[in-house]
Amino acid sequence: MREIKNVVCPFCGTLCDDVVVIVDNEGHIIGTRNACRIGHAKFMHFEGAVRWREPLMRENKKDDFKKVDIDTAIEETARILVEADLPLIYGFSATECHAHVYGIELAELVRGVVSNTAEVCHGPSVWALQDVGYPICTLGEVKNRADVIIYWGSNPMHAHPRHMSRYSVFARGFFRERGREDRTLIVVDPRETDTAKLADVHLQVEPHKDYELISAMRAVLKGFELQVDKVAGVPVDLIYEAVEICKNAQFGCLFFGMGVTQSGSKHRNIDNAICLVIDLNAYTKFTLIPMRGHYNVNGFNQVCTWVTGFPLCVDFSRGYPRFNPGDTSVTDLLMRKEADAMLNIASDPGAHFPQKAVERMAEIPLICIDPHDTPTAELANIIIPPAIAGVEAEGTAYRMDGIPIQLKKVIDPPEGVLPDREILKRIISKVKEFL
Ligand code: SF4
Repeated sequence: MREIKNVVCPFCGTLCDDVVVIVDNEGHIIGTRNACRIGHAKFMHFEGAVRWREPLMRENKKDDFKKVDIDTAIEETARILVEADLPLIYGFSATECHAHVYGIELAELVRGVVSNTAEVCHGPSVWALQDVGYPICTLGEVKNRADVIIYWGSNPMHAHPRHMSRYSVFARGFFRERGREDRTLIVVDPRETDTAKLADVHLQVEPHKDYELISAMRAVLKGFELQVDKVAGVPVDLIYEAVEICKNAQFGCLFFGMGVTQSGSKHRNIDNAICLVIDLNAYTKFTLIPMRGHYNVNGFNQVCTWVTGFPLCVDFSRGYPRFNPGDTSVTDLLMRKEADAMLNIASDPGAHFPQKAVERMAEIPLICIDPHDTPTAELANIIIPPAIAGVEAEGTAYRMDGIPIQLKKVIDPPEGVLPDREILKRIISKVKEFL
């Protein structure tokens, strides 16, 4: 038995790097320390209910899968992508950055569209920051300095379980030695979530009315008087109180999640929230950080920006990168039936895309690079199982605040199973033969 220390958890955007993984003499993970329940489950269930060990293929989606060797699966994948008019290469948020690089190269070669799961997550935050700016800081700065924390439309108690203890509300930092006692917590959520139960101030906004509430806070901050009793369901007294807390902060941080990116007004909510943070900087130091979901969703946007100039939704069909979400987004290309083949890697759009997009995925040739049986794999023609990044393969991942952290390999993958990057490299060389 051995203990591997300082392992990085490949689950959520908190990217905890203090996990201890316990491995028995046969090379199986038998336990973890420090990880939360979901992080622990990722390490313990690396074999999963159904863990693919060999590539599978079928021509007709109604047939059963047949086992094939990796060369056959790669050759057929390359053929599908080369023959398609507009292939989509999508996913990437649960794998490491070298796989991102090869995925983007592949999309350019086959003149397809490459994108990641941010489309159905923090994509609207990206559109907003391109418009009005990105006053961000690192989680270390929050830990050491922040005396006011806002969670807006996010519920870290469930989605990022160690976020509050490692970096924000409960963490003891250099200038915040008393941890929780040194910090004020404001939660904005229509529901009384487990995070809201911990708040000093809970602004129980009505669903889809965040834009109004942010606008009211900006108005109060600028000295206007609210001539109503409530805005977006929140009593104005509470709005004045929240603004006063923010204004008097020494260092504040606004964390925001799906409650604002995926509700009415979408990226305009984030525009407005960024402007609120910018306005607050006239009085104090205030920052914001998006609660990025998958552990390396941020990494793809970083890599894609270095390589193409754009963070996601990049269309190579004209031979050069174009970016126009709504037009070049994978969900829209599927719903408009423009895409005619798809390679999905390290994500599960079959479970998380809108119904119409999933219906199109069922109609077109679909390749799924995923270790486990998922709703996407159920729709696939080809399944290629990879080594699990951060457990069976090393690589780089970017935390929600843009800090790169090196993932560790703690055990060997099943025999013959390659990391994502190697699979993509082999598809690229086959594609080059066909072109
Ligand atoms: S908070 Fe996130 S990164 Fe940390 S252990 Fe839990 S799932 Fe893993």
